Amino acid sequence: MKALQYPAVGAAPVVLDVPDPEPGPGQVLLKVTAAGVCHSDIAVMSMPAAALRFPLPLTLGHEGAGTVEALGDGATGFALGESVAVYGPWGCGMCHMCAQGKENYCLRAAELQIFPPGLGAPGAIAQYLLVDASRHLVPLGDLDPVRSVPLTDAGLTPYHAIKTSLPKLVGGSTAVVIGAGGLGHVAIQLLRALSPARVVALDVAPEKLELAKEVGAHEALMSDEKAALAVKELTGGRGAEAVFDFVGAPPTVALASACAGVESDVTIVGIGGGSAQVGFGVTPYDAAFRAPYWGTRAELVEVLDLARDGAVSVHVETYSIEEAPRAYERLHAGQVRGRAVILPNG
Ligand code: NAD
Ligand code: ZN
Ligand code: ZN
Repeated sequence: MKALQYPAVGAAPVVLDVPDPEPGPGQVLLKVTAAGVCHSDIAVMSMPAAALRFPLPLTLGHEGAGTVEALGDGATGFALGESVAVYGPWGCGMCHMCAQGKENYCLRAAELQIFPPGLGAPGAIAQYLLVDASRHLVPLGDLDPVRSVPLTDAGLTPYHAIKTSLPKLVGGSTAVVIGAGGLGHVAIQLLRALSPARVVALDVAPEKLELAKEVGAHEALMSDEKAALAVKELTGGRGAEAVFDFVGAPPTVALASACAGVESDVTIVGIGGGSAQVGFGVTPYDAAFRAPYWGTRAELVEVLDLARDGAVSVHVETYSIEEAPRAYERLHAGQVRGRAVILPNG
């Protein structure tokens, strides 16, 4: 089969022929219908060898959807041909976190060398994908897999981040979204669907600000040195009740902190290497700073239900598997509008 692989540290991703996978006991083989391209892959491909926790080559793609092609011995719960989305943050299934459905926070995944597809295990940008257990699958029903596949990360991750802050997002509140890319443009829609908060989007690219407005941001402003002041002005000097940073670089974490109000939540989702300074007199009284990871399987079910209700709709650009390297180039250059999605089987 064809697969998009990251072959070696510092090399560009390439499309290669690799052996067709076969499902072992309990595993499910999917014929991939769609696979999303996430900025985290670019972060992985920028890591030095010492920071990589898994061997290369790696088949990329941690947002996957497909149809059930074959069931390994003992695998149950899905019928051949059924359309499914993959819950990516695989855990041990047994520890205290996994027992709560929070496999994203599995306490034993590192020790047991359990990796998400595309982030250690072979990923979804391939014609076929092996899924370790049927509990990692969620039925898509009649949802379009191409427009739904980004919801497994670009939807689930902001949903998980936003859900915790909902008690603070009451009438008259303000939520700031930094970075209106793959995750950010879904975050804006989720905030609009789930809360009465005024949503202020900040980005460095005019076309991303346009997209932010199109998907429901009340305000869309340049993310520059004047942005924090603009947010303070918009909030009568109070600052925002919640700030979601989908870049996570040193300047955006500083900006996120500067936009925050008393008792606010500052949530750093982007993995751009920034870190916040927190302390009495440095941060507003009782502001909470968090850096969450992905989301739970139950939350993925909820996000897909929101899509089914029409509350969120991902903007996608589609590519064949041969064009997949170009999708990564465009993402790296900040040119993707919404999410790039690869169609490995055409
Ligand atoms: P993306 O490239 O689609 O979007 C990033 C957006 O940020 C772009 O619109 C870009 O123009 C904008 N941007 C860049 N610099 C900016 C700045 N200084 N101020 C404001 N906006 C700026 O990326 P994505 O796939 O949406 O991922 C976003 C981030 O989230 C990445 O760092 C990714 O690795 C991370 N991520 C984290 C998790 C998690 O679980 N914590 C999950 C998925 C992705
Ligand atoms: Zn991702
Ligand atoms: Zn676990």
